[in-house]
Amino acid sequence: MLSFEQAREIVITQCRSRGGTRQTVPLPLGDALGHVLAQEIRTDREYPPFDRSTRDGYAARASEATQGATLRCIGEIKAGDSVTEALPPGSCIQIMTGAAVPPGADAVVMIEFTRRVADEVSFDRPTQSHQNVVPRGSEARAGQIALPAGLRLGFAELAVAAQVGAATVHCYKKPSVAILSTGDEVVAFTETPGPFHIRNSNSVSLAAQVRLAGGTPVLLGNALDRVGDLAAKIEQGLQHEVLVLSGGVSMGKYDLVESVLKGLGAEFFFDAVAIRPGKPTVFGRCRNTLVFGLPGNPVSTMVTFQLFVTPAIDILGGGEPRALPLLEATLSVALKEKSGLTHFLPARVEWSSTKPHVAVLPWQGSGDIAALTRANCFLVVPADRQDIATGERVSVLPRGDVL
Ligand code: AMP
Ligand code: MG
Repeated sequence: MLSFEQAREIVITQCRSRGGTRQTVPLPLGDALGHVLAQEIRTDREYPPFDRSTRDGYAARASEATQGATLRCIGEIKAGDSVTEALPPGSCIQIMTGAAVPPGADAVVMIEFTRRVADEVSFDRPTQSHQNVVPRGSEARAGQIALPAGLRLGFAELAVAAQVGAATVHCYKKPSVAILSTGDEVVAFTETPGPFHIRNSNSVSLAAQVRLAGGTPVLLGNALDRVGDLAAKIEQGLQHEVLVLSGGVSMGKYDLVESVLKGLGAEFFFDAVAIRPGKPTVFGRCRNTLVFGLPGNPVSTMVTFQLFVTPAIDILGGGEPRALPLLEATLSVALKEKSGLTHFLPARVEWSSTKPHVAVLPWQGSGDIAALTRANCFLVVPADRQDIATGERVSVLPRGDVL
């Protein structure tokens, strides 16, 4: 059986080899978070655009503002002031953080290291040329690439785009991800369930995970465990780039997802992964749609989405697949698991004295979503480990939204 790493590689390879050009959209910068740039963005001018002071203090010539020297202060420069006149020799000028250093001055002395009596300023320390001054153009030259195409826009990237005046950015369209839950027992969460029904929580968590990953969720509701209903709703899902199903992929008599997909012409790249929860996960292609059949137990659905669907959305969104952000932590309570499968256990990592410590939370198995609300990560127990002692280093997969 495939390890989760091998299964991820298969997803990545299939997504990369999926031909066709990606559609792009012009977006106002305020709507572009999480999109991948389809264009490069260049600087419109030098950065900084003027010699910028990084401190509140006095602009002066380093050769004159020597330790013990006194210079006459001729005025002040605030951030935003136009500065054209050169600083006359033998003088200094009060300057604020972010203001332009006048021609002639080559250093800013922090106010803390000066003493002022009326217009006379004396300097307590030696002054070096260029201190506390960021020269014009030293961060970026005009016309240089500020953000390359293919970059995912996070808060820092958005700030750079804003800095260079890119009010509209051309990005790849987010992939459209159809979500279909399955099960005769499943009713919409807006309905009152009968005594043996359960509300559809998977469609809600999946839509949230799709959004967080950078896709656009399309909710198709729930299909009954009948060939006809399932086939009709899967057909709707095949209008989208990705179809994510929950439930119906185990060995039960009414687990029909794989056989219905096969009937619609799907080819499968895997239909089991050596993990718990999540072993019966299915990944294939049907027509031009990538299809994930995730097990229906809510925690299984969440874990398998994070492991396998996230890299697909990364790539189909025009970017690179993000690595699994595994952390190392110290196990605070010993544990014992059956070997053979890699386990992902709801756990909580805490930082005491800056070092991460992790403990598994009590849970009732993969239906127990309440346990997951107390977890901020999954502890990853390798397939070949049975006992892990307190104090051992272990791998932790952050939940992604809360850690
Ligand atoms: P399955 O994978 O279809 O065998 O479902 C496994 C378990 O997950 C069963 O207990 C289901 O009732 C539950 N389940 C399946 N689909 C959903 C859903 N959409 N929302 C919440 N629980 C579900
Ligand atoms: Mg089912």
